[in-house]
Amino acid sequence: MRQRNYLTPTLRDTPADAEIKSHQLMLRAGLIRQTASGIYSYLPLGKKVLRKVEEVIRSEMDAAGGQEVLMPAVQPAELWEESGRLGNYGPELMRLKDRHERDFVLGATHEEVITTLVRDDVKSYKKLPMNLYQIQTKYRDERRPRFGVLRSREFIMKDAYSFDTSKEGLDKSYQDMYDAYQKIFTRFDLDFRAVEADSGAIGGTDTHEFMVLSEIGEDTIAYSDQSNFAANIEIAPVRVEYTKSDEEALELELVETPNTKTIIELTSFLGVKASETIKSLLYIVNDEPVLVLVRGDHEVNEIKVSNVLGKAIVELATPEQTAKILGCETGFVGPINIPSSVTVIADQAVEFVTNGVCGANEKDKHYKNVNPNRDFAVSQYADLRLIQEGDPSPDGKGTIQFAMGIEVGHVFKLGTKYSEALGATFLDENGKTQTMVMGCYGIGVSRSVAAIVEQHHDENGIIWPTSVAPFDLHLVTINVKDEDQSKLGEELYETLKKERFDVLFDDRPERAGVKFKDSDLLGLPIRVAVGKKASDGIVEVKVRKTGEMIEVHVTELVETVKNLLSK
Ligand code: ATP
Ligand code: MG
Repeated sequence: MRQRNYLTPTLRDTPADAEIKSHQLMLRAGLIRQTASGIYSYLPLGKKVLRKVEEVIRSEMDAAGGQEVLMPAVQPAELWEESGRLGNYGPELMRLKDRHERDFVLGATHEEVITTLVRDDVKSYKKLPMNLYQIQTKYRDERRPRFGVLRSREFIMKDAYSFDTSKEGLDKSYQDMYDAYQKIFTRFDLDFRAVEADSGAIGGTDTHEFMVLSEIGEDTIAYSDQSNFAANIEIAPVRVEYTKSDEEALELELVETPNTKTIIELTSFLGVKASETIKSLLYIVNDEPVLVLVRGDHEVNEIKVSNVLGKAIVELATPEQTAKILGCETGFVGPINIPSSVTVIADQAVEFVTNGVCGANEKDKHYKNVNPNRDFAVSQYADLRLIQEGDPSPDGKGTIQFAMGIEVGHVFKLGTKYSEALGATFLDENGKTQTMVMGCYGIGVSRSVAAIVEQHHDENGIIWPTSVAPFDLHLVTINVKDEDQSKLGEELYETLKKERFDVLFDDRPERAGVKFKDSDLLGLPIRVAVGKKASDGIVEVKVRKTGEMIEVHVTELVETVKNLLSK
């Protein structure tokens, strides 16, 4: 491809509204442009990378027995009503009406469509198992679209769905996808971990997220320093053997604690440790108040709270609700003498607090010498807190450390949630009707591109892994006005194309500095510069990743490039 009339509008300066490296570089290298908030256009280079990424995914999906389909982005709302998701998917689901006032949604995911497709066309166990996938545009009206295509409102996803006759069948399909994902992200040259995760609103049991390790990641991964344990902190169980102190229980005491709304203010005012305090948070769950208690040095894990309460939607009470229910400000909430309509649940660590401190449901007042079970009742003790660095690993091996991750893929065991709701059944060997057992498997295609850039760049630009580079190499004629250089550049362009290399040919009448800067920014694996030594048939080959530069005679160029690319 000749760069002279190729649409690669590179930018010298960092766009002000791009916070993270991958977003900045994708804009600066002219891969993407924002069309609306969270909605992007891909320019030719960006589109080429997307295609490379898609080809890697496709090849591994096909190798794992997947069959590619293409489903519509526009889906009738009734399908979502049938599956029971229309109401609880919330404002992320984009909705629209057609000219007949019929309701539609823009596909955020495709369980409904695929399950009805398979329901209507697969009737017998003989056709199963089956794995269907597509690479397609998804729509989610994210509350905070950000970081370019990393979290956008329109994005490309590879989504696959498996259909099995049994749970054991699903286990195998799931493992096959898990293995395929390992191969895919390895081919992208990503430093990633597969971590245990929460199954969330989509429903299901077993699930893993594929996380690209990166400090800008939005998820926190808890991993053991001595074993393979790795889980999203959303679900990582806390297994700590708490012990009761042998301190004697003292008499409950109401104390003045002016302006101590936070645990830090409170502990420094009273001279106690955070672990000696009890933090109380009021939640509203199905319109009912629930007070959740954790130790002051711990944080509530809302997913665990939700799971303990039967997968309910839990929302922190507003200051107005708190005032109405407990008659006080948020900073002084506590479990003692509260209305019986408030359910109290507590993290298991709370039970072991002796002579602790908690809010008194009165402004500027706390209780001292608080002893759970004596001073207040708890309807359930459970694991309700976030795991922390330094906690023992739940598998009993090693200590927990944290890392941040970008979720690029997700595998779920759905079970029969959708097949039951939508009636996807089959006849087994005995002619008996049974419900299909499903799994679903997503990869953020566009997010993967951003994650690759996030992990593969330096101060000068992108450094594409060969597997997804938009072109194999960058051929640069340094001075196109020089006859020898121009002629050799043109010749090499033809030769390299004939050898089936995908070449970006910088034939622009620009200064050398501009061309080299652009070349580093675009980050193709190899740059071949045709310069002053053109008359001697010598060109300069540079490896983008290592910065290594060698002078090569044109007769050896093809061989050299082949060797470098296969490295
Ligand atoms: P997240 O927690 O990041 O919102 P999710 O759990 O909602 O992700 P899934 O429903 O599992 O995501 O979708 C499958 C994959 O699609 C994700 O692993 C991610 O790579 C990608 N993805 C999800 N939402 C977005 C988005 N807004 N922009 C780009 N990619 C996304
Ligand atoms: Mg999401």
